[in-house]
Amino acid sequence: MKHWMGLLFMAGLMVWVVAALPVNPAAAAPVAPGLSASVAPAEIIPGQAGYVHVSGGYPLAVTVTMDGQPLDIFWAGSGYEGLFSFGLDAQPGEHMLAIDATNLTTGETLSRTETVTVTAFDFRNEQVSIPYRLQDLLDPKLNQSELDRLSAVYAGRTQPARLDWPFAIPVPGGIVTSRFGGNRVYNGGVLAARHAGVDFRRAIGEPVLATADGRVALADTLSIRGNVIVLDHGYGVFSQYAHLSQILVQPNQFVRRGEVIGLAGATGRANGPHLHFEVIVNGNPVDPLKWLALAPGFIPPREATPIPQTDGSGGGDTGGSVPTPGG
Ligand SMILES: [Zn+2]
Repeated sequence: MKHWMGLLFMAGLMVWVVAALPVNPAAAAPVAPGLSASVAPAEIIPGQAGYVHVSGGYPLAVTVTMDGQPLDIFWAGSGYEGLFSFGLDAQPGEHMLAIDATNLTTGETLSRTETVTVTAFDFRNEQVSIPYRLQDLLDPKLNQSELDRLSAVYAGRTQPARLDWPFAIPVPGGIVTSRFGGNRVYNGGVLAARHAGVDFRRAIGEPVLATADGRVALADTLSIRGNVIVLDHGYGVFSQYAHLSQILVQPNQFVRRGEVIGLAGATGRANGPHLHFEVIVNGNPVDPLKWLALAPGFIPPREATPIPQTDGSGGGDTGGSVPTPGG
């Protein structure tokens, strides 16, 4: 037994000696991650959001400006992040991002500029018919006052420990019945508006899930959006769920990604049951599917064929829109 132990000890010692042999010092040096920055996407369309990601140490001092205006920078788990977005009325053109970072421990610095290019995009023209009983909900003043109320909510800025990421589709398996950004004309011109969200087919009473962790910033009944929930995910990112048959959360309640927050319905200006889902970044409604697609591994939802929004029937959406300039 003693002999066996001795052998084991000798074997262990030899391994230690081998391990301690001098090797190429360069190869043995610890790998320094170094500061790095990435921007996505470099090409963007109106009504889309993107991010700047800076990594390579903690803590870092990071500043990012777009066209000279500073972005909010926050810790995102694997690095620092800043978000930028363009509204549906953004003009094509180039925008300059200036990224500066300093590793406060090593003194390493990074200074870079990147260009984000907004390109023109032909959004669909959609004719939407609203039944007579809902005609009053096409009043432009009513539409504006509801948007003003929501804009006040979106102006809030909270700073949770991190932005929950990635965001998830609020109705898993849901089929898209109306895309984001469509140029809508209601009832032959009574109201012109952009479709500020994406619609998913959903039967009355089917669950609607939180797209990401967040705080309930609004849970109320509005004229056009009906029963609506707005979640505040922090750092200027909000999600909105409209036309619900039931709201299952309270204002200020914290909810987890995937938690059931309401049930789908057809309340407000909807001519069939569906979920109208919006993502708002820095005050701009952005294409929710493009936002979700920023996360790796995102599988786009299926679309109804043909997309039935042009006649407003079959669960097509008629709410949750923003007026076109001058419309
Ligand atoms: Zn909609």
